Amino acid sequence: MPILRLALPTPLRCLFDYLPPADIGSDELTHLLPGCRLSVPFGKRELTGYLVEIVEQSEVGTDQLKHAISLLDATPLVESSLLDLCAWAARYYHHPPGEVFLAAFPQKLRQGEPAPALGEPHWALTSEGMGLPEGALKRSARQASALALLQSSNALAEQELLDAGISKAVLRSMRDKALVARELLLPPTEPPTTNTPLTVNAAQQTVLEPLTAALGSFSAHLLEGVTGSGKTEVYLQWIAAALARGQQALVLIPEIGLTPQTVARFETRFNANIVVLHSGVTPTQRLAAWQSAASGRADIVIGTRSAVFTPMPRLGLTIVDEEHDGSYKQQDGFRYSARDVAIKRAQLTSTPILLGSATPALESLHNALLGRYQHHRLPARAGASTLPELQAIDLRKQPLEAGFSPALVSAVEGTLTAGKQVLLFLNRRGFAPSLQCHDCGWVAQCKSCDARFTVHRRQRQLRCHHCGAKTGLPERCGDCHSGHLLTYGLGTEQAEDFLTGRFQAWPIERVDSDTMQSRTAMSELVDRVNTGQPCILLGTQMLTKGHHFTGVGLVGVIDADALMFSPDFRGEERMAQLLTQVAGRAGRGTTPGRVLLQTHHPDHPALQAMLIDSYHDRAKALLSQREATGMPPFGHLLVLRCDSVNAQAGEAFLANVRRLTAPAVPKNVSMLGPFPSAMPRRAGRYRLQLLARAGSRAAIQQVAQELVWHAQQQKSSGNLKWSIDIDPLEIL
Ligand code: ADP
Ligand code: ZN
Ligand code: ZN
Repeated sequence: MPILRLALPTPLRCLFDYLPPADIGSDELTHLLPGCRLSVPFGKRELTGYLVEIVEQSEVGTDQLKHAISLLDATPLVESSLLDLCAWAARYYHHPPGEVFLAAFPQKLRQGEPAPALGEPHWALTSEGMGLPEGALKRSARQASALALLQSSNALAEQELLDAGISKAVLRSMRDKALVARELLLPPTEPPTTNTPLTVNAAQQTVLEPLTAALGSFSAHLLEGVTGSGKTEVYLQWIAAALARGQQALVLIPEIGLTPQTVARFETRFNANIVVLHSGVTPTQRLAAWQSAASGRADIVIGTRSAVFTPMPRLGLTIVDEEHDGSYKQQDGFRYSARDVAIKRAQLTSTPILLGSATPALESLHNALLGRYQHHRLPARAGASTLPELQAIDLRKQPLEAGFSPALVSAVEGTLTAGKQVLLFLNRRGFAPSLQCHDCGWVAQCKSCDARFTVHRRQRQLRCHHCGAKTGLPERCGDCHSGHLLTYGLGTEQAEDFLTGRFQAWPIERVDSDTMQSRTAMSELVDRVNTGQPCILLGTQMLTKGHHFTGVGLVGVIDADALMFSPDFRGEERMAQLLTQVAGRAGRGTTPGRVLLQTHHPDHPALQAMLIDSYHDRAKALLSQREATGMPPFGHLLVLRCDSVNAQAGEAFLANVRRLTAPAVPKNVSMLGPFPSAMPRRAGRYRLQLLARAGSRAAIQQVAQELVWHAQQQKSSGNLKWSIDIDPLEIL
C-alpha cells in the first residue's frame, strides 16, 4: 500500500500521512499522483488535502494511519514543479505547508469543488526526462523512440503517441521512472500571434539578444533601465520569442502597477490568451483564469504577488517588473517574497527570469555585480525624451504657505502657463498628521496604538492610519477643554485646499487611497490626465508607480525631509528609489522636465548624493555601507515577532524562546532582543521582536528551525500570536 503524504489546511508545520481510500480500485490507484486533491478525515472534520508525495514508509505506524475518504481529481491539477516550489517555500519561510499550498489553489478548489475537465491527455518530459542525454534509454527501443518524440516538442497528445506505436504501458513505465508526466491539456485555441513591435534601439537589442538565447534553461537577469528607457518593450519582445516556442510567460507586477493601462499594452501587442490575476478578481474569475493557466491554454499570465504560484505547465519565462517594489513581500501570514519565490521557480522549471527596474533593490544589484545574475542596462530614455534634472529648494527662512515655498509656487505657475502638467508628491494623506492643543500641549492620540491621530477635515474625523480607528473631529481639547486646537504638519487634503485657492484656473487631481477607492478611479484619472491638458496632480506614493504620464513638465517633492530620516536600515535605499521613481514621472514627452525637492536640509549627504549621483552610483555607495555593517545583502536576517494584549506575556515568551534556542545558535549568528517594535502598541496589542543576523543563509535557516520549534513548544496564553519573517523587509 503506498502512503500518501498530504498538505492539509491546518496551522501545523508538517505534512500528514494517509492510506489511499479504502475502496479505491487498482485502476484508480494509478491516478493517485502528486498534485491531486483528496478528501480526508481530520479529527471530527473532513478536509481537502493536496497530495505532495507518495512514500513507502511512514514515521507513524501503518496500522495507525487512516484511509483517505476519496480521490477528488483524476489527474494532477498542477504540474509537479509547482508542488516542489510550494514545498520549498514552506521549508524556506518556515510556514505551515498547508497554508502555503492554499496560496497556490483558488478558493473554490480549496473547498473541494470539482475541477472542470481541463482537456485531452498529453505527455511531456519532466525536468529529469529533459536532462537525459541524447541516445539514452538504449535498452528499450520503444522508450528511446518515445523520448525522441517528446524531446522534439513540449507536450504530445496521448493519441499522437499511440498512433506512433508507443503503448500506454511504455509511457507508464517511463512515468514510474519520473521521466515523463501525463497532463490534461486543452488544444491551443489558436496559436498566439504578435502584432508589429517597435523597432528596438541598439541598447534594447543588446539586451534582447542574450535574453532570447537564454530561453530553455535557467538563468537570472537584471534589467537596470532608467525610467522610460524601454524596459517594457524589451519584455514584450522577449515574451514574443517565448510564445513563438509554444511557451507560456508569467509577468509579475506590483500591486498598484497592475492597471488596465498595463494590461492593454499587452493586449494590443499580442493576439493571445492573456489572463490577469489580482486581488480584485472574483472567485469565479480567478478559478477560470487559474484553470486556463493550469491547462496550458493561457499564453500570458499577468498578476500581482500571489500569481507567482499560478500553475503553468508550459512556463517559458518569468518577468518581475519593478522588482524593488515592497508589495512583492507579503507582510502577514505566509511572509514570502514573490520575487525570490519566482527565482526559485525559474530554477525548478529550468527557465530564465528577468528582474526589471530603474531602481533595483540592493539585493538584486549585488547579485548582478557579483555575476550571479546577468546584468543588462538601458542607460538612456528610448525615443526623444531626456531624463530630468534634480534641484533642491532650500526652505530655511522662506515664507511658507501650507508648506509651499515661493519658488515652488512660481515653478508650478510657470509650468501650467506653458501648457504643461505638474506632479506634486506628498506621502501623507489626510489634512494634517496631528492635532494639538495650543493652550496645554495635549495631542490627539489613538487609544489603541502608540500613534497620533491624523486629521481628516473633509470627513470631520480623526483617523488612525495604523488600526483604522475613527472618531469625530473634537471641538475642544481632551485635557483642558480649550477650543484652541491647531493642526500640525501637512497632508494631501491641506495641500489640495491651498492649490485650489491659488490655482483656480487649472484642475487639481488628488491621488491617494482616500480618493482612489473605486477600482476604476485610477484608470479614469490616467485617461483624464493623458488628454494632455495642463493640470496639477497631487498625490502619495500611488502616483509614483509606473504610470505613464506624457505631459508632466514639473515634479515637485513637497517634503523631501520626510524621506530622509527613516530609522530602518533600508531607509536610504527607499529614499533613493522613491525620489528616482518620482523624478522619472517628469519629461516623458518631448520636452525635458524639472524636479524640485523642498528641504530644510539641503546639505544632507543623502540628498546631496541624490542630486549628483545616478541611482546606480548611489546604490553602489549604499552597498558598501551595508557591507561595512554586515546588513543584507551581505548578512542575512530573520525576525521572530510576537504580539499580545499583555506586554509581559510577549516579553516572557520571546525571552524563553531565545534562552532555549541559545545552545543551538551557531557562533557567527548575532541575536538581539526581545525589544519593542518601533510602534510598541498597535490595535491594542503589544508588539515585540527577536532579531537574528548571520553571514550565511544556512545559519539563518538553522536558527529559524530552532526558534520555530521552541516557539511551538511554548505554552502561552491563547491571545499571544507569533510569526517568523525570513529576509524581512523592515526590522522595526
Ligand atoms: P520603461 O518600461 O522602461 O519605463 P517603456 O517601454 O514604457 O519604458 O518605454 C517608454 C516610452 O518609450 C514609451 O512611450 C515607448 O513606447 C517608447 N519606446 C520604447 N522603446 C522604443 C523604441 N525602440 N523606439 C521608439 N520608442 C520606444
Ligand atoms: Zn488643552
Ligand atoms: Zn490606532
